[in-house]
Amino acid sequence: MSNITQPYIGRFAPSPTGPLHFGSLIAAVGSYLQARHHNGQWYVRIEDLDPHREVPGSADSILHTLEKYGLLWDGAVLYQSQRGQHYQIALNTLLKNQQAYPCICSRKTIQQIARQGREGLIYPGTCRHNTNQPDKQYSIRIRCHNQTIAFNDALQGTINQRLETEVGDYVIYRSDGFWAYQLAVTIDDTAQKISEVVRGSDLLHSTLRQIHLQQQLGYPTPNYIHLPIAINHQYKKLSKQTRAPALPLDNPLPVLIKALQFLNQSPPQILQEATLDEFWQWAIQHWQLDKIPKQHAIITNE
Ligand code: GLU
Repeated sequence: MSNITQPYIGRFAPSPTGPLHFGSLIAAVGSYLQARHHNGQWYVRIEDLDPHREVPGSADSILHTLEKYGLLWDGAVLYQSQRGQHYQIALNTLLKNQQAYPCICSRKTIQQIARQGREGLIYPGTCRHNTNQPDKQYSIRIRCHNQTIAFNDALQGTINQRLETEVGDYVIYRSDGFWAYQLAVTIDDTAQKISEVVRGSDLLHSTLRQIHLQQQLGYPTPNYIHLPIAINHQYKKLSKQTRAPALPLDNPLPVLIKALQFLNQSPPQILQEATLDEFWQWAIQHWQLDKIPKQHAIITNE
């Protein structure tokens, strides 16, 4: 399905909502090893689209932790907060071609009219015929069509969805004046020529909206790999909400070894005494994608 082959470019795209924890380390390590094993580039993009969710200082803390862990990226870090003009150009095109439309429905209205889907409420297209810019607060939604979007995830297999009936026209520009994740990530993955997206399985179904947007904007589709996410014994994803502790900065090696074990890469005992360089050398050389459990989530004590 993918139309991109070479060169390999991967990325890690954290949101600066807190320090890195074991859960986010899995996505960083998995995307890094997959890129380096293919002699590829690995970029870091800070997804700082939402100032309300942002924790001051966490972008710098994430980058500092990556460095301490030997996860060294290529080129300059891309900050989504500086990319508004690119998102605006794409949005203008979509509006001009009537692929997107302004929506004035409040959250309350949507709760009254929409039915619940697996990705949240399914917007029934109430404002689809709006063409003028409304004078009250509005979001912008992209029009979905009655067709199935599908892709083949290298770990999770074939994933498909009929967006119109299962998700509904989704928001690409938020009514509070911020860019929506789906639009920004689609534009940036294309702008950075990402050939393969490796991230947590919590974003598996978001991928269908991103592929839909790629199709609407005439962009190519990269390969996708969704890694199992780390969950706690209550089956909750490790996150700020579940109080996942920040990664220690003083002794990264044991944590990195646990990350490799989580991804079922069987690091040998001798790595416990390795330097960080030796650790990465071993991990890059011995990385085997097909050893990763084909699961959405794995319970961890971290
Ligand atoms: N910024 C998103 C997050 O931290 C990840 C986005 C992505 O990898 O596409 O959950």
